Amino acid sequence: MTFESIIGQERAIRLLSRMLQNGRLAHALLFTGIDGSGRQTTAKALAMALNCANPVGVSACGVCRSCQKVISGNHPDVIIVRPSGAFIKIDQARALRKHLRFAPLERGRRVIIVNDAQTMNAEASNAMLKILEEPPNDTHIVLTASQTTDLLPTIVSRCQNIHFRPIPVAEIADVLVAQGNLNQDTAIALAILAKGSLGRVLSADAKKWMAWREQFLGRVGSVSREPIQELFVFAEALAHDKANLEDALDMMTTWFRDVLMCKFQPEKVLNGDFMESIQGASREFSVDEILEKMAAVFAAQSAILKRANPRLALEVMMLCLRLGNARGDSLHGEAPVGLEG
Ligand SMILES: [Zn+2]
Repeated sequence: MTFESIIGQERAIRLLSRMLQNGRLAHALLFTGIDGSGRQTTAKALAMALNCANPVGVSACGVCRSCQKVISGNHPDVIIVRPSGAFIKIDQARALRKHLRFAPLERGRRVIIVNDAQTMNAEASNAMLKILEEPPNDTHIVLTASQTTDLLPTIVSRCQNIHFRPIPVAEIADVLVAQGNLNQDTAIALAILAKGSLGRVLSADAKKWMAWREQFLGRVGSVSREPIQELFVFAEALAHDKANLEDALDMMTTWFRDVLMCKFQPEKVLNGDFMESIQGASREFSVDEILEKMAAVFAAQSAILKRANPRLALEVMMLCLRLGNARGDSLHGEAPVGLEG
């Protein structure tokens, strides 16, 4: 949990390191970025660095007593505030203000980490603002939120904002491979679905998820050959599978992206373990047809985001995937023209 171990956030770490080197670390920091991009880990790494007995440069050693206390959540001067239920409430902010009246218990610096600061309700936000207006000496406050617009502008203006980018697919895949148990193809497939959040994949049940993916992509590969009635059943099942629906549509998008890519740069196919069926579809469809199918998936994603009836949106999508343009002749379940090569 040292700065060196943070994945994919070189810029944020560089900024923090420079502030530490120059002795100019702001009293109030705001880490913005998606969940799982490393904001909370970095906040803890910063707390460790500020209290470490044997720092290496500006980074914590990770092994001294102080570092161990931060890692185990037992450091008396590193306080983490989390939502209690859906919100961070006024009582929590009041307790924090009370606590800050006393000097730190150990010799280093006190660090208050407020996770999901956007969940502070109006009263808690106002109490936090008072803390930020007069931060005690030797205390640093780190707020984490998705984006600055989630917070009161008066809070944002008192903090130095550091943005955490979504972590690139390749870097997430490297972590998954380094952890063992996953081969490169599987790691990339999982990393794509992470959408920039390492936290998201690390908390996923990789085995269960891979089994689901295999079954799902197998089905996607055969959509153009299945009878319409079967596809409506598929659409209905997907619409009911709310936990996986978003991932399923994302996966379809990358699958058709791969089908297209296979025509030009097959080495850039992401779902490498499905190469055979991707190659088949790539031969079967023209570029225009593939783009049409991708557009159909995008349209379904967008309609569902706008709270359209998912089943209806998915049925329309299936029809477009199955028939494409002017393929009325295949309504009765025969293979579409050109399938036989
Ligand atoms: Zn240390």
